[in-house]
Amino acid sequence: MPLSFIVWALLLLRLSCSAESYGCDLYDPSNPCYTGGRVDSDLSPDPLPFSTRAYWMRRAIGALADINEGSPCPFAAFGAVIVNHTASEIGTAESQLGQEVCIGANSMARDGNPTLHGEIAAINNCSRILTDPDGPYKLSGPEALSALGDLSLYTTAEACPMCSSAIIYGGFREYIFSTSIPTLRSYDWPQIVIRSREIFSRSVGRLSAHRTRILGEVLANETEELFRWQFADGDCPRGCEKEGSGCVKSKNSDAGTRRDEL
Ligand SMILES: [Zn+2]
Repeated sequence: MPLSFIVWALLLLRLSCSAESYGCDLYDPSNPCYTGGRVDSDLSPDPLPFSTRAYWMRRAIGALADINEGSPCPFAAFGAVIVNHTASEIGTAESQLGQEVCIGANSMARDGNPTLHGEIAAINNCSRILTDPDGPYKLSGPEALSALGDLSLYTTAEACPMCSSAIIYGGFREYIFSTSIPTLRSYDWPQIVIRSREIFSRSVGRLSAHRTRILGEVLANETEELFRWQFADGDCPRGCEKEGSGCVKSKNSDAGTRRDEL
């Protein structure tokens, strides 16, 4: 066997070992690491009760009105809340629900910025709050990035590829969505149809994607009406009524009160 062939073989072996140390392609069925698109967090049971998940998903719904001048039914009803549950799992009674860090809602039209989906808006708000020298946390930039790993992001709809990627780069502890991308498509919402779990399962190397707990379609029975009327024939969400081609808050609406209750 020629010496040059042995040298090349050894070099290729070294390169493949080096690549493996940075993770392997979990999405490639020919790879021994292939998991069929599953992420590790799918295997562990949810440590928090559904009532807690429902409380925070309703808060994500409430973020829509908080940020959209009181309207609970904006056209782009993508709201989010970022929560610290780390104390909840320790189990102290007063902190069982967790602590809200920030909220966000789709602000593309208001700010003329196509990246301001609800999740990105919430992440921006949290980063600002976490690093505010006059705020409650006063963290440095690196400390704030690290802190995201303790936080849970709730969003009224499954994140698009941009937002799923931001959640991965943020290293969030948990990601909880409500209405799914297939349901949005069934209402004719324009979508890039790549599910969050696929984005997560394709993330390799030193990313936390495979540690993030993903919970899907939480409280979807309450969020789907927020997305049903814009492109398909559908009634306005509860607490709202038709005005022109849009939906506005009903004059006698109790939706805000009802949704803030658990
Ligand atoms: Zn998005």
